[in-house]
Amino acid sequence: METRDKLRLALTIIISSFLALSIPILFSRKFFKTQKQRKICYLNTESKAQSTFKRILAENSYFQFKHLKLQTQSNEEYSNLHPYKGEISKLLKNPDIGFLEFLDGFDNGGEKWNCEMSDPLVWTETKSQLEELAEVLSKERVFAVDTEQHSLRSFLGFTALIQISTKRQDYLVDTIALHDVMGILRPVFAHPGICKVFHGADNDVLWLQRDFHIYVVNLFDTAKACDVLSKPQRSLAYLLETYCDVATNKLLQREDWRQRPLPEEMVKYARSDAHYLLYIAYCLSMELKQHKNDPPNGYSHCITLQTDASIIYCDMRWHLSKYTPASRRSNATCLQLFQKDIEAYLGESTALSIISRCLNDQGGIPSSLCDLKFQELVRRFCAWRDIMARIHDESLRFVLSERAIIALAAKRPTTELDICSTISEADPDVELMTLFPLQSPSSVVSCHLEDLHYLFQAEIGAVDDVLQMFIQQHLGPDGSCPLSAYNYALLTQTGLKQTIRATSNQNGFKAAKQLAKKASRELFVQKFSCKSPVYHNFKIYANDGRLLCHCDRKKLEWYLNRNLAKLVEDDPPAIMLCFEPKGRPEDEDNDFYIQSKKNICVSCGEGNHYLRYRIIPSCYRMHFPEHLKSHRSHDIVLLCVDCHEIAHAAAEKYKKQIAAEFDIPLFIRKVVDLNQVHNASASTPTIISEEAGVSPLQLRTAAMALLRHGTRMPCKRREELMQVVMKYYGGREISDEDLERALLVGMSPHERRKFEKKRGLAFKNSLKSMNLNGERENNICGKATTSIQNDLNGTAAGHLYVNAGETDQKEGYLDILMGDDTGVNTRPLFSNGRVNSAVSADEGNDIADIKEFPDIKTSSTSNHDDICESESPSNETTNPLDDRDISLNRESKLSLLGHGPHGKQVVEHLLKEYGEEGICQFCQRWRQVFVEALHPRFLPGGWDVNHSGKRDFGEFSVYKPGKNIRAIAI
Ligand code: AMP
Ligand code: MN
Ligand code: ZN
Repeated sequence: METRDKLRLALTIIISSFLALSIPILFSRKFFKTQKQRKICYLNTESKAQSTFKRILAENSYFQFKHLKLQTQSNEEYSNLHPYKGEISKLLKNPDIGFLEFLDGFDNGGEKWNCEMSDPLVWTETKSQLEELAEVLSKERVFAVDTEQHSLRSFLGFTALIQISTKRQDYLVDTIALHDVMGILRPVFAHPGICKVFHGADNDVLWLQRDFHIYVVNLFDTAKACDVLSKPQRSLAYLLETYCDVATNKLLQREDWRQRPLPEEMVKYARSDAHYLLYIAYCLSMELKQHKNDPPNGYSHCITLQTDASIIYCDMRWHLSKYTPASRRSNATCLQLFQKDIEAYLGESTALSIISRCLNDQGGIPSSLCDLKFQELVRRFCAWRDIMARIHDESLRFVLSERAIIALAAKRPTTELDICSTISEADPDVELMTLFPLQSPSSVVSCHLEDLHYLFQAEIGAVDDVLQMFIQQHLGPDGSCPLSAYNYALLTQTGLKQTIRATSNQNGFKAAKQLAKKASRELFVQKFSCKSPVYHNFKIYANDGRLLCHCDRKKLEWYLNRNLAKLVEDDPPAIMLCFEPKGRPEDEDNDFYIQSKKNICVSCGEGNHYLRYRIIPSCYRMHFPEHLKSHRSHDIVLLCVDCHEIAHAAAEKYKKQIAAEFDIPLFIRKVVDLNQVHNASASTPTIISEEAGVSPLQLRTAAMALLRHGTRMPCKRREELMQVVMKYYGGREISDEDLERALLVGMSPHERRKFEKKRGLAFKNSLKSMNLNGERENNICGKATTSIQNDLNGTAAGHLYVNAGETDQKEGYLDILMGDDTGVNTRPLFSNGRVNSAVSADEGNDIADIKEFPDIKTSSTSNHDDICESESPSNETTNPLDDRDISLNRESKLSLLGHGPHGKQVVEHLLKEYGEEGICQFCQRWRQVFVEALHPRFLPGGWDVNHSGKRDFGEFSVYKPGKNIRAIAI
């Protein structure tokens, strides 16, 4: 017994001491392992300029940016909208002219004006100096501004310097030293009585909001003035050279503006960016005044005489000149709001663009390497790069280049050493390519190599979860990287994942769309890109042998079959017209039309797939006078899917700007609740949530889907669609009748009649009975509306149009491919005009002079032929285009309704105010938007932003008034 007990004791001691020893060993092993894995993050030893900032408005999480809340605003009134919307709207209606008087001295051959930048400049770096500056500026009537940014070593970028010039003095504000107190300048920037002159303010306006909650009110943008004056160039370098005889080295703009003290050369450059602006603004204003803006008949509004201005500036000519549109465009820029780009899946857009480039052999690797595994790795690295850039507050480029991502995904190195060399080999000329010293691999990669290693593993689960794990590892309780004001919000539950979910829910089915976007992209390309070359480039000669234009085979046959032309060349075929076309392209300087066109994306040169893109959005163009629509081949170009997406996004963004500039909202909402209307008129209009609107097309497709398949569709889907319709009805419960009414919203009476016919008698009757209630056709609501109508004192038919502002209209490929369940047709749904251009049946090579036959007219069996863009005045003639195009064209018309009412009002406004010249300028603006979004490298020669579109029409042209198209067909 004793021995047994002893033995037991001994055993217990041995076991317990073993355990006592081994547990710490196990723990420390684990501990040491993690210590060894985690190198010390470089941020523990490196300090960055922005780490001194205490007031950070835009941090790196996924929380939406919060705009300034005015002290006069209560919490309930705060809506994250533009705090100075009212002030800016006033300026849109009444341009500021008075400030020009204060620049009058420039008139004396520039004598009063300090041309040479000889006075010492004022370097502002303390709070009291800044307060002094604010005081000086508050007494000015006008001052010039420019900003310099730093973006390489920061996720969102920050303002490193602000240059301000008054007539007397140049100031450089050290916005790194003064970052937290820059609000001192807020009042002068927001003062509507002080004009701020910028050159190309689009970005500066947003940067100032992002960093300092500074909002520019009353802007004169010299770049916008250049646009209105159709100057050959709009760069500041050009203006400096032309007006001031000053040459600049624009390379300095990409220098590291964090440097202190700033090198002398950079000081001089920065100063010159603002110094000459007042003088240039003065010169451009005088030129604008010279150009009459074709006053419309009975022009009467918009004239507020400035009491403090001299007679010259009360002159009506200012208001009637091109000064007005230049000023309006400038101030419309100020209405933009800074927003963080929020992707549902981190890095997704970059991943997609990398993958598509690689699939098209443009990624520097054979496309055969671009398999599914490769694509998955690219997605993981893009997501990792995005989260690491946020954690360390670095730019994406600084963390890891796209070349390096491609190389990693293609080579799949197995050791950390291999990973490093793969990256540095992919970035060979890193030092040469940039003015900044860039390491490859970057310090972020070097310190967190184990992450990359981990990402190569086959089964790592959902990328979302992996990212969450990285955040915890790097920023969590014993994280490897320092917490900062920029990254701490990533740690909160909602900082990343939850917010993504929340945002997706908010935006309806956006998340599902994003998810399906990947999968459907290729399907999209297959389905909608042009199957055969768009431009056949068969030649058409005039009867004297001069080349007129190129056309496709159908058109060629059309002429031949009617004996209107004879075949003069066989391979490739070319024809000569038997009649004299009136006007020739070269007579009008329109070389463009005789160019043969390449079947490639005009932006990137992609030749495997492409779709047609309309540079002037159809919602406007469909309302142009017939003869101004005729130069469509100039404004319809081929784009690959990716460039199409970019161009479309830019256009949608610009539409919002147009909506603000003309005060014509994009989206509509019917206000049915009396209380809401009272509120709206009692206080600021912004109380009506700007999110509340819905586009007419969205509304109608949702209503149609519900009526057709409401009972059969999944609950969730039905709920989503109901939400869309409810948005229109101000959030109230909706009945079947409401749905029926919603189908007609935004249609003209004619469109509606046609539509009713198609919908059948029963439907028609139900509508009739509604119309009998004494309401206007478009206003089909119950009693509530009638009383609202009285309340609103005749607001058009009781419809209160509310600007839906931030409503995100960007659609993924999914809706386009989803087809029946949301679509009005059994064909795919074209929800917002984005695919419209892709499937339009226009033949791009048209030349109006010989457009004796009309283009395709939608077949009469179409449900929607009357609500479409009527490109052709007749549908009597044989259709020269094939059936595929016809069927696609039919549905494409549907999409035109996306912003139909908005487009119509804008065009009507332009015609009324500025006549046809207004339309031409409007087109030029859209071309400018297109060029700026894509910087297209393969536009056909002769393509021109300033293309006049002025064409003379042939005897037989469909655009010739009073000509019957049938005359020629016989
Ligand atoms: P600027 O409007 O010329 O004063 O430019 C303002 C800031 O925009 C610069 O400080 C740069 O950060 C950035 N920037 C403008 N153009 C470029 C460019 N071509 N490349 C890189 N950065 C640019
Ligand atoms: Mn500058
Ligand atoms: Zn780190």
